[in-house]
Amino acid sequence: TLGTRHCGSTLFRRIYLENCVFCLIAEKKLDSQIIYEDDISLAFKDINPVAPFHVLVIPKKHIRSLGDVEDFNLVSHLLYVCNLVAQKEGLTKGYRVVTNVGDDGGQTVFHLHFHVIGGRPMDWPPG
Ligand code: C5P
Repeated sequence: TLGTRHCGSTLFRRIYLENCVFCLIAEKKLDSQIIYEDDISLAFKDINPVAPFHVLVIPKKHIRSLGDVEDFNLVSHLLYVCNLVAQKEGLTKGYRVVTNVGDDGGQTVFHLHFHVIGGRPMDWPPG
């Protein structure tokens, strides 16, 4: 019935969100090295850094990827935070901001995040 399907999808969503690793980090249920936080966003060190400086900037609210964003003011804020942490870390020679979207984009964690990478020269194109 419609009722059962509705209950099922609500339960599925709850289980999914409870297991989203970046939701757990945002809720402080999972340890991370947080370097910046405000009401709507968080920046923490990537556990598998690809450069001397590698930080992830996420919204606290669960959004799957850039492809699922409805409020682009939020994206604007996240990019503001990317630049803020890069400047705070003194990346005066430059840095890179990347967001991977979906399988072809190489996304592995399905909670919107911007990588802020720096501390060494970057190659182009990416793999
Ligand atoms: O863009 P993509 O989805 O592949 O990036 C996910 C990033 O999240 C990876 O760089 C990975 O090292 C990082 N990660 C993390 N802490 C976790 C799980 C993943 O920093 N607990």
